[in-house]
Amino acid sequence: MAEIFRSPRGSALSCANWQIEAAYRMVQNNLDPEVAEDPANLIVYGGLGKAARNHEALHRILSTLRRLKPDETMIVQSGKCVGVMRTHENAPRVLLANSNLVGDWATWDEFRRLDAMGLMMYGQMTAGSWIYIGSQGIVQGTYETFVAAGKRHYGSDLAGKLVVTAGLGGMGGAQPLAVTMAGGVCLGADVDGARIDKRLHTRYLDERIDDPKKALQRALEMRAQKKAWSIGVRCNATELLAVVRDAGVVPDMLTDQTSAHDMLIGYVPDEMSLEQANDLRKRDPKAYLKESRRTVCKHVALMLDLQERGAITFDYGNNIRTEARDGGVAEAFRIKGFIPEYIRPLFCEGRGPFRWVALSGEASDIARTDQLALSMFGHNESLRTWIEKAQQRIAFQGLPARILWLGYGERAAFGKAVNDLVRKGELKAPVVFGRDHLDCGSVASPYRETEAMQDGSDAIADWPLLNAMGNVAAGATWVSLHHGGGVGIGKSIHSGQVTVADGSLEAEARLLRVLTWDPQSGVMRHADAGYVAAQDFAAHRRIDLGG
Ligand code: NAD
Repeated sequence: MAEIFRSPRGSALSCANWQIEAAYRMVQNNLDPEVAEDPANLIVYGGLGKAARNHEALHRILSTLRRLKPDETMIVQSGKCVGVMRTHENAPRVLLANSNLVGDWATWDEFRRLDAMGLMMYGQMTAGSWIYIGSQGIVQGTYETFVAAGKRHYGSDLAGKLVVTAGLGGMGGAQPLAVTMAGGVCLGADVDGARIDKRLHTRYLDERIDDPKKALQRALEMRAQKKAWSIGVRCNATELLAVVRDAGVVPDMLTDQTSAHDMLIGYVPDEMSLEQANDLRKRDPKAYLKESRRTVCKHVALMLDLQERGAITFDYGNNIRTEARDGGVAEAFRIKGFIPEYIRPLFCEGRGPFRWVALSGEASDIARTDQLALSMFGHNESLRTWIEKAQQRIAFQGLPARILWLGYGERAAFGKAVNDLVRKGELKAPVVFGRDHLDCGSVASPYRETEAMQDGSDAIADWPLLNAMGNVAAGATWVSLHHGGGVGIGKSIHSGQVTVADGSLEAEARLLRVLTWDPQSGVMRHADAGYVAAQDFAAHRRIDLGG
């Protein structure tokens, strides 16, 4: 039987202090069966995104953390602990680098060769940097995206609107909940019934219907009644989209979150069962890739067809357009990316997917921090609505956590206020603050976060490196530098940070530095690219842009 990992709960420490304990708990929390998509293979989410290279490497990470001293730093190379260095108490306790390859070698083939030799692992974004919080981590961003798209295109929320999509995995599974929170109907395909059941179980999805025609019929009834509802269909995306097209139905919105960034492990070809696909992948990976590419071309052609008929269609950050374009669908990039369309204005204010986790394991700690967030940011209607809806609708996975898209200034103020709660004993244990790598200053990803930058700087990867170096200098508890997350090997470079609030004054100083610098790097990045909103914001908030 596969070994099960789960974060310890409560206030007793297995490590020398809470800085180290936090890493010890969070790496295991990433692999909690409630959290990870495939914990037996150490896969957290996003196709092959892993928390550690293999079981032996994971045990070595855990045993090293158990003996790590407060002035030492553990070094992790692609999911394996390779050593410990003497630093100082305000330095990070862990430094991680995952899946990085030199430019000319940065291909899936080379990555897979090295992975098969046991030399690397794919870290995705928050998988290899130990701050994945289950599907909640993406729900608010997905909700904000659908709300922004509704406002832009319909001047309203999504009541009476049908959103069609596919991929109900670790991240994509947030789509049905986000759409219904925005008032709409979501019809989503996934080839894997177990993934659909997982979303039903965590209450991210309302209903499963395996016949695509019946599922479409039900979705149309719900749309007519303006009822917020979500339906998962066990079929290939191409099958669902063909049924929608043949019925002459035009979805109000259309997108996709299958793991199309990885044509071998993440994406599943059509015209065969999931079992047949799994078998083909093992037997003949080349033939599998050929089938995947054939399917992705058909998939994007169907999306373009429905876009042509009037569906508001956008790419949801899975590199599907590139795969289809490279397979011969020349028009693939007529589908716009969601970042330039809906998210970039938030990045200009340093706003992004900030989150925190209660290391105690107690839901009451998150309830207390929610209350604090409402008292500090309740004047912002969208943040207030999100917290209230999340309290009603989000089932915690693993350690209780909350995501809140806070911006520059807000993150540092909130980090300090939570540290005060820990100091005063109002929480049962310390809290960690982190974020997705899909943030304002931490990523270069020309098919996603930095698509169509105003000054053409899409592929410049100095920014995430500077972001990470700044977070090390500021004293984050752990800092990671990854390649290939979100859109695949060769397509992105990004960094993450996690910082512990243990109630001490030293932690307060670190939190104020890290949670100021981290979003500041995003404002800088966008101001430098010429975004007036970021330049005005920097001037207004007296952010020093040099000179
Ligand atoms: P995942 O691997 O956990 O889930 C992918 C799901 O797609 C699986 O359930 C799989 O069964 C299903 N699937 C694969 N091919 C299919 C097909 N042809 N038809 C129907 N279903 C199919 O991945 P995830 O974590 O949910 O991420 C999905 C994608 O979204 C990835 O490419 C990821 O990089 C990207 N992503 C986007 C954002 C964002 O903010 N937009 C954030 C994170 C990840």
